Amino acid sequence: MKEILVFGHKNPDTDSICSSLVQASIDNRTNMPAKAMRLGNINKETKFVLDYLGMQAPELLTNLEEGQKVIMVDHNEFGQSAEGIQKAKILEVIDHHRISNFETSEPLFYTTRPYGCTSTILYEEFKRRPSLQKISKEEAALMLSAIISDTLLFKSPTCTKYDIRVVEELANISGIKDFKTYGMDMLKAGTALDDLSEAELINLDAKSLEKNGLTYKIAQVNTVDIPSVMKRQTNIEKEMQAEIKNKGIDLFVFAITDIVNGNSEIIALGERTDIIEKTCNLVNHTAFLEGVVSRKKQLIPMIDNNM
Ligand code: MG
Ligand code: MG
Ligand code: MG
Repeated sequence: MKEILVFGHKNPDTDSICSSLVQASIDNRTNMPAKAMRLGNINKETKFVLDYLGMQAPELLTNLEEGQKVIMVDHNEFGQSAEGIQKAKILEVIDHHRISNFETSEPLFYTTRPYGCTSTILYEEFKRRPSLQKISKEEAALMLSAIISDTLLFKSPTCTKYDIRVVEELANISGIKDFKTYGMDMLKAGTALDDLSEAELINLDAKSLEKNGLTYKIAQVNTVDIPSVMKRQTNIEKEMQAEIKNKGIDLFVFAITDIVNGNSEIIALGERTDIIEKTCNLVNHTAFLEGVVSRKKQLIPMIDNNM
């Protein structure tokens, strides 16, 4: 039997990689041969986690064959998924995002919760299904890392009380008792941006979205020093403009998020920056958004509700 492929979204983040690994491990425990895959390069934050655990990154998935059995984690929108997803057989989705541009021809398992992270849902699966038995140290560390990453160590408005409780429990199981120090070290590992080109910066954590015929893209980088990224504004804008032209994007927002203070500076370009200007003033294409760190809960609604 061909194994089931488990993967998160393009431009994978720590949740997409860690939750794929844990979900594949859950499936393998229940005699469903499964393999975690990735849809792009591993970022530095995720590399920190894998190095800490002495684990290899999942294999790169480039193309899906027709009828391939898959499980999607941490995403559902086809635009963020693997090439050929329309022809794959989607057995299951485990996700914590809005549902959009998703369609199947057959019934499936679909688990979604408005939690801060896919791994919080996976933790719940372990609790719900005693037959899965104990969470291993490694699985606990993967899930803990994913939750800390997605919630920015609980600073994001996407973080729920339940996410925090789950991290505390996973800290005990994983042996990462001082999860705050570990989490900050992990997040900081992801803020080393100086050796990345501007083209890499705008694709590091980028999502393409669509609503009511509007094609937009929101990219985000984490930093501890917004000005160190903003001094590259001219070249960042060049790359954004090229992407807008090549992909026919109506609005491109690049968010530079200060993970220590919990704010973001955005650069907004494209024909439809008027949507952004309904909530904030753009000066030289930029705006400082106090308390804004979440694409899902803050940036996407700011666009969707103003178009
Ligand atoms: Mg994600
Ligand atoms: Mg996630
Ligand atoms: Mg994210």
